[in-house]
Amino acid sequence: MVKDIAEQLKSRFSEMGLDVPLEDIESKLDELTNKFGVPVDEAKRSVVSQYLKESNIPRGEFYGKDSSPVKVRDISSEGQWVGLKAKVIQLWQSESDSIAQVGLIGDETGTIKFVNWAKSARPLVEEGKCYVFKNVVTDSWQGRFQVNFNKNTEIQEIEEDIEVGSSVEDITGAIVDIQSGSGLIKRCESCNRALIKGSCGEHGKVEGKYDLRVKAVIDDGKIVRDAILNREITEKLTGITLDAAKKIAEEALDPSKVVDVITEQLMGHYYRVKGPKVGRYILVEEMERAVPVSDGDIQDAIAMAEGL
Ligand SMILES: [Zn+2]
Repeated sequence: MVKDIAEQLKSRFSEMGLDVPLEDIESKLDELTNKFGVPVDEAKRSVVSQYLKESNIPRGEFYGKDSSPVKVRDISSEGQWVGLKAKVIQLWQSESDSIAQVGLIGDETGTIKFVNWAKSARPLVEEGKCYVFKNVVTDSWQGRFQVNFNKNTEIQEIEEDIEVGSSVEDITGAIVDIQSGSGLIKRCESCNRALIKGSCGEHGKVEGKYDLRVKAVIDDGKIVRDAILNREITEKLTGITLDAAKKIAEEALDPSKVVDVITEQLMGHYYRVKGPKVGRYILVEEMERAVPVSDGDIQDAIAMAEGL
């Protein structure tokens, strides 16, 4: 009996990267149950806390196995162990070595930021794929909820596609800025991150594959939003295909020439932009030229943006 429990605990500890001698666990359990007459369950809990305390591991990480599945919308407090079935909507640039991956996942009820800590050594996820996440912990940062992965987090890819629900934004306004990171960019072949100076935050120096995107700031006179145009939308809107963009860059011997051309086309013009709002971004799904209310509005919008 004690031996079985000791073996269970040992394998659970080693899953968590903790190497505890089986005899140690066994003798502790044995002492508590046989010498002091402590009930088995109680003894087990006591031994577990002792090791967790010594190794500075939060109790939740050990007991996290029971996390219950929830919907994104229902996440309303910190420190809860939950499970989610969600789609990876976006991976963001991580600014810290301690973060393996950061981005946005979502289910039918909404979207939430996730952080995959490097020290947890969890597998990486891919944009656009759906997963069952078990044993993630809710947290909040700057007033927003997020989920963190940890050593116990289980990530299992699933075949079904999840229709991510989010508030769809539909605004008509002037483009008042085209931000850096627009135009011809390169992405990592393994994780799809945008490369910075030929380097992936996760995979270091890589060859990368070309992509086209625009990060535009759109202003409808009341609110200012960052809109992200993927390759498809960018090509449709500007008439510049990825191949054409590569040619422009080659001929100019300068990839940033592409941004110049795009900026010239879009800047100051009115567009109707539709797409899910994700954090501060609109992920543009539809975009078309719109008629400005008046010329003055555009000039005001640009003047305002430049004054910021
Ligand atoms: Zn990468």
